[in-house]
Amino acid sequence: MRWTQALIPTLKESPADAEIVSHKLLLRAGLIRKLSGGLYTFLPLGFRALKKVERIVREEMDRAGALEVLMPALQPPEIWQQSGRYETASDVFFKVRDRSKKEWILGPTHEEVITTMVAGELNSYRQLPKNFYQIQTKFRDEIRPRFGLMRAKEFIMKDAYSFDVSDDAAQKSYQKMYDAYTRIFQRCGLKAIPVEADTGVMGGKYSHEFMVPADTGENEVVYCDDCNYAANIEKSTSRHIMHADLGKNDSALEKFATPGVVTIDALTKAPYGVAADRQIKTLVYIVENKPVLILLRGDHQLNEAKLVGTLGTATYRAAEAEEIFAALKAHPGSLGAIGVQGIPVYADEVLRHVTGMTTGANEDGFHVRNVSIDRDIQVKQWADLRLTQAGESCSHCGKPLKIRRAIEVGHVFKLGTKYSVALGANFSDEAQKSQPAVMGCYGIGVTRTLQAIIEQSNDKDGIIWPLSVAPYQVCMTPLNVANDGIVMKLAEQIYSELTVRGVDVILDDRDERPGVKFKDADLIGFPIRLAIGEKSLAKGEVEIKFRGGELTFVKAEEAVAKILELVKK
Ligand code: ATP
Ligand code: MG
Repeated sequence: MRWTQALIPTLKESPADAEIVSHKLLLRAGLIRKLSGGLYTFLPLGFRALKKVERIVREEMDRAGALEVLMPALQPPEIWQQSGRYETASDVFFKVRDRSKKEWILGPTHEEVITTMVAGELNSYRQLPKNFYQIQTKFRDEIRPRFGLMRAKEFIMKDAYSFDVSDDAAQKSYQKMYDAYTRIFQRCGLKAIPVEADTGVMGGKYSHEFMVPADTGENEVVYCDDCNYAANIEKSTSRHIMHADLGKNDSALEKFATPGVVTIDALTKAPYGVAADRQIKTLVYIVENKPVLILLRGDHQLNEAKLVGTLGTATYRAAEAEEIFAALKAHPGSLGAIGVQGIPVYADEVLRHVTGMTTGANEDGFHVRNVSIDRDIQVKQWADLRLTQAGESCSHCGKPLKIRRAIEVGHVFKLGTKYSVALGANFSDEAQKSQPAVMGCYGIGVTRTLQAIIEQSNDKDGIIWPLSVAPYQVCMTPLNVANDGIVMKLAEQIYSELTVRGVDVILDDRDERPGVKFKDADLIGFPIRLAIGEKSLAKGEVEIKFRGGELTFVKAEEAVAKILELVKK
């Protein structure tokens, strides 16, 4: 490609609405342009990089034995009703109507479609296992589309769905995808760490997310440097034994006035001085239309994913002020569970057997001290409900846990038979008995991966592409295009030789100052730059430089061989 024939609209300044470095660089390097919030056009260079990521994904899926298909983006709502997700997933749907006013859904994911296809096409254990994948546009009405391609309304996903005869067989399919994902991200030059992930209401099954560590990531990962434990914070656990730490207190309950105190923090201050870890925090949630109480230690936060797992339903929300008052006759800040009748109480396991605690009295402006949880509060269920905090002990090895932010680029998930049962994807086993297929689903955000590569690999001058996904691997920069006798003649000759040898090369044939050309090449981040100028040519040499590396000089006649070696052609 010749630069003068391409469309590479680089920008000096970052557009004001780009908040994170990768989003800024995508725009500045002329890779994408915004149409509207969460909707982007891939310009030619961005599209080339995207295709390269897709190619890696496709090669690894094929290598793992998955079969490529293409499903419709437009989906009938009936299949979502059949799977039971029409209501629960409806907040992400983009819905459209046809001329007869019938509703359709722009697919946010494809479990329902693939399972319907499989229900019609596969019927014997002899045909299993099967794994189908596609690379396709997904639509999601995200609450907060942001950060460019990271969280878009329309994005490209590779989604795969495996069908097996048994749980054991499904585990093998899962492992194949896990291994394929590891290779995909490696080949993309991306450091992506598999972490244990939450499985939501489906509960109990197995799931890993592939996370790219980045301060701008929307996820938090809890990890242990010592034993390599790593989990999404939603899923993470920590070792925390509390009653042993605090000793025993048998004193009688004692109500005391706390006028104006409505936070845990305020109660820690004089004249009360009740440490946060000696307080019981009472939260009121509405679960399937009924109030429930959730008890946590004062210095802990609720992990909503664990709450969903404990309740077995995702139909829950924090109660409104009136609902809280109706349930407990007090306002937030003075809430407690002592003597509460008819409202189920879920308590975090850290509170088991604790004594000497302080909690709200269910009377505005009052608290109660000397609470012994076993004696004073009727707990319906103990569960791990708290959010892990940095510094707590690893549940596996006891060493302190750390927390860092990360970008989720992929997700592998053992689904079980939820969809095959609902949509009739059954097969007859060896004994001619009908069984639902055991499923797994596997997603990679292809467009998000592209941006994550940039987020992880850049410097003050711009992007640093790995060779595998760079829009062009080599940028040739003749320093003076007016010199068509020597400089351009050699440039054209090397350019055509490299092109013939299948090297992805762009020739910057613009009549611009070298500084301008180098700046653009660095901003876009071509991995290898080959500069041809009168000065070094006087010594028979050209300049080769890796993006961000040192300048090296090679004999002009060896340039092609050297480049071929560098790109391993
Ligand atoms: P997130 O928690 O980030 O919303 P998710 O759990 O909804 O992700 P999945 O449904 O598992 O994601 O989708 C598979 C992959 O698709 C994700 O790992 C992510 O890389 C990508 N992805 C999901 N939502 C978006 C989006 N709005 N924009 C771009 N990529 C996305
Ligand atoms: Mg999502």
